[in-house]
Amino acid sequence: MIRISLRAAAVMVAAVAGALSLTGTAGASGASARPMPTGAGALTRNPLYATGAFGSSECTEPARWADDLDSYRAYLDDLLGCLDRTWRERFREAGLRFSPPKVRYITKSVYTGCGQFVASYAAALYCPANTTMWIMLSKEELSDRMGFDLFTIVAHEYGHHAQDRAGILAEFERRFRTLSGKRAYDLNRRIELQADCFSGAFVRSVWNSLGRDRHDWDEQLEEVEGDMWHGKTRNIRYWLTRGWSGRGPKACDTFSAPASKVA
Ligand SMILES: [Zn+2]
Repeated sequence: MIRISLRAAAVMVAAVAGALSLTGTAGASGASARPMPTGAGALTRNPLYATGAFGSSECTEPARWADDLDSYRAYLDDLLGCLDRTWRERFREAGLRFSPPKVRYITKSVYTGCGQFVASYAAALYCPANTTMWIMLSKEELSDRMGFDLFTIVAHEYGHHAQDRAGILAEFERRFRTLSGKRAYDLNRRIELQADCFSGAFVRSVWNSLGRDRHDWDEQLEEVEGDMWHGKTRNIRYWLTRGWSGRGPKACDTFSAPASKVA
């Protein structure tokens, strides 16, 4: 599931290239906030990297029932609340403005504002053009009521929202447009692997409250399957684990990492 989700995220990034530039500076100024970072510094010296670890916090997983859409929505509402709290605190510490993403639960293929979201692509995607996370509650998803995939996928997509709010996505898009071939793939992998690192850091921060077995996390790592847009399997595992161990965005500067770590 992670593999599929990551692939859809690449579709998102490629599809919204034009739209991003229209929204890149929105919300950059605020009474007490610093301007949204721009230029090279947005990627390699982002104020998010200077913030502390995510503190351990409580997050529960409400029971889900097969084919019961309402129970899945309640499950995700709780998770998104945890993500909002966790990221809002880091943005506050970084002196950056923050607003949570809009969220849409869908059950069939729709147009997202970043292209068509086909049910078989993924469990979720983030569209920066409308700062909305689209979560696909397909029949297949609604049959896996104990799975942990959905949790980590939503944490990954929320990582893309954090990148958006921190000016990382806008700078990524500006550069991406000028690149082709190997250099475009390299940059795309850095944005995706950072979202993996953010996901690992968040999951670790709430792990003790989830009542899950370490096996559930190990299984996530085992199921990873890389590709040229998202990185080799070993590197996806590396950044998920680096986030998990580092517990915060400071561990996740993929843009300063050597090429071998983002291959
Ligand atoms: Zn992604």
